[in-house]
Amino acid sequence: MPKETRYDVLIAGQGAAAYAAALYAARYQIKPVVAGEEFGGETAIGGQIENYPGFVDIDGFDLMTRFRDQAIKYEVPIITENVVDVRKDGSEFVSELGDGSRIRSIAVILAIGRERRKLGLPNEKEWMGRGVSYCSTCDAPLYRNKKAVAVVGGGNSAVEGAILLSKYAKDVYIVHRKDEFTRPDPINVTVMNDQKNLHQVTGTEIVELLGTDEKGLTGIRLSKSFGGKETIDVDGIFIEIGADPRVEIPKRLGVILNSETDEVHVDRVMKTNVPGLFAAGDLTDGSGSLKQTVTAAAQGAIAALSAYQYVSEHRSRKGTVAASSRH
Ligand SMILES: Cc1cc2nc3c(=O)[nH]c(=O)nc-3n(C[C@H](O)[C@H](O)[C@H](O)COP(=O)(O)OP(=O)(O)OC[C@H]3O[C@@H](n4cnc5c(N)ncnc54)[C@H](O)[C@@H]3O)c2cc1C
Repeated sequence: MPKETRYDVLIAGQGAAAYAAALYAARYQIKPVVAGEEFGGETAIGGQIENYPGFVDIDGFDLMTRFRDQAIKYEVPIITENVVDVRKDGSEFVSELGDGSRIRSIAVILAIGRERRKLGLPNEKEWMGRGVSYCSTCDAPLYRNKKAVAVVGGGNSAVEGAILLSKYAKDVYIVHRKDEFTRPDPINVTVMNDQKNLHQVTGTEIVELLGTDEKGLTGIRLSKSFGGKETIDVDGIFIEIGADPRVEIPKRLGVILNSETDEVHVDRVMKTNVPGLFAAGDLTDGSGSLKQTVTAAAQGAIAALSAYQYVSEHRSRKGTVAASSRH
């Protein structure tokens, strides 16, 4: 029989949403546990953060260490195993972790984020935060007055990212594998066409990231030449080819997803359609297209309040049943 431990609320994930939920749940005096294999989520690997209120400029890993320290101060247990399955057992949840152990809880908060789509090129992972980024909204200001940056992708986020970057870097190259930009909103394409320093490299793929382990990324190699050159020197590359919310577990539980984005659909207090199951952060459609550390943390806090209310109601229901069965 696998080991089973009981808590009031299981919080899956180790990112901003999860740690904010843990802090608030602990302060509401319900018994939370955090489970996730990798510390810090996207914030921890995102390099410098310049838009988390209260910090003019902080390394993402340091910020997440502060999040975790605050949860530890409230003695929240942290299990470094991923949640592999969550199922309902009567009015409770039983979650299975990577090591085969189980957690029984009254409520679950899923804060497991999303998977950024990768180009799959050598050094892409190693140079993340050193020239390779997946978030132009987050990192564009770091490229103020830099000579050149590249954006990869052909959707709205790539085009919006390129427009934003054109206000910071001297030259921006948007590299799209198709010949035309058919997916973005027409207004975005019009604005892009008007930017003199934004060069559209279409019908082209990036085949190699150039640089060194010491310097990080310094350039890109293209599948065909642009302006007579097959390589372009760039200070950064923004890979904006989409992200997939981690919805396998919620789907198995019958959670309703947002029909357009495939994200977990939550109401304004982070409830899903499954009673006792809450979700927060980038996994959800709760903050629209703005997916940031601050929005994830805020949603984590709201989810914790909802979980607290649910746990309290659950206890009083159980108390009522126990009391009436004594008569
Ligand atoms: C390169 C980059 C730079 C960024 N820069 C900024 C910035 O400057 N400012 C800003 O505000 N935002 C920035 N962001 C966005 C920000 O990092 C995210 O919005 C934020 O991390 C979302 O937090 P989250 O907790 O919802 O998800 P995540 O941070 O993605 O955390 C999800 C957690 O769940 C864990 N997990 C996954 N599967 C499981 C499972 N089955 N069981 C348990 N745990 C699981 C993951 O390992 C991770 O710990 C950046 C993102 C990137 C990629």
